[in-house]
Amino acid sequence: MDRKYIEQFGKSMPRLGYGCMRFPVKDGKIDFEASRELIHHAYNNGVNYFDTAYNYHNEESEIFLGKVLPEYKRDTYFLTSKLPVWKVTEEGDAEELFNQQLKKCNTEYFDFYLLHSLRERSIETVEKFKLYDFILKKKQEGKIKNIGFSFHDSNEVLKKFASAHKWDFVQLQINYWDWEEYDAKSMYETLEKLNIPCFVMEPVRGGFLASFAPHAMKHFKDYNPQSSVASWALRWVASLPNTAVILSGMSNMEQLQDNINTFTDLKPINDDEQKIIDSVVEDLRKIKPVPCTGCRYCMDCQYGVDIPGVFEVYNDYKKSENAAIATRSYFMFMDEKEQGGNCQKCGECIPKCPQQIDIPHELEQIHSEMLQLKDTVK
Ligand code: SF4
Ligand code: SF4
Repeated sequence: MDRKYIEQFGKSMPRLGYGCMRFPVKDGKIDFEASRELIHHAYNNGVNYFDTAYNYHNEESEIFLGKVLPEYKRDTYFLTSKLPVWKVTEEGDAEELFNQQLKKCNTEYFDFYLLHSLRERSIETVEKFKLYDFILKKKQEGKIKNIGFSFHDSNEVLKKFASAHKWDFVQLQINYWDWEEYDAKSMYETLEKLNIPCFVMEPVRGGFLASFAPHAMKHFKDYNPQSSVASWALRWVASLPNTAVILSGMSNMEQLQDNINTFTDLKPINDDEQKIIDSVVEDLRKIKPVPCTGCRYCMDCQYGVDIPGVFEVYNDYKKSENAAIATRSYFMFMDEKEQGGNCQKCGECIPKCPQQIDIPHELEQIHSEMLQLKDTVK
């Protein structure tokens, strides 16, 4: 496993980190044995960074790690969690949440701890309840080794907030699609200027950059038939000099092994490969996908709409242009209540979306496009 020495931590870190929000699921819960096997395989191959959060897997991810990771010596892995800032509404909430998290994770300390999913609005909560001072105090007490935040807003907000305090690291959504399309480049450069290591989330954009229509896949496959499409996205991010750990939410052994292969004897993207990626980005610009990463922060919808499910079907359709598969996935494999047409426009999901998608509007558009598409498919 490729590792990188990060001066700020005085440690070498694995380039690949395990994002603990997409474990295999059985009967609506984390499939314990299958997920435990994944963790063991990762750890035994040098992937010893585990990134969880209060809300992952309906608040089960921390508990799961708290059962599995103690099988290893505590100082042989890095454990990261995050404060759900949106749950802090009164003095004392942060303390209570943090203590719960230590208990759930069955640990005395977190190696890395973040203020989770900050935006301009949530930064008001951070300031109001002095959450920076809170995590700094926990660091001084030895309960956190490194403090940071994850972020989804504009570069202007990032600049202001990142410079207002001293941070050990910041976690950003960086991938070759967001780079120019959603201004990830400017945000990456802001951290570089401030000399803050950048941890990367969504390098494959929730799987969006893991498969394409055959004509786009062909660019990649002609150049290197052995490499997976996802490996291009991971290598691209890893080639940026200020990226430290790159998180991937791996759901099965095939993905995990493919990522381990990518990060073993890691090869930076060369100029010819960059040109191929540029042409894929051009193709993606034409299809205008919904920028959903499948994070599920918007769920559950009280009316039963499967918001990320609808967006996934739609984006797959835009990439593959296969109307038969799209309409089958949408009308046959989703219940009517899960489809976009059942959105009641209550608006509850909108502020929860880190990608700032106008969810009801997109659902309405997609539903009407799917109905039209259905008529074209025999
Ligand atoms: S706006 Fe639509 S999708 Fe969002 S929570 Fe309300 S009903 Fe569900
Ligand atoms: S719509 Fe937004 S919150 Fe919901 S899964 Fe997609 S990116 Fe996440």
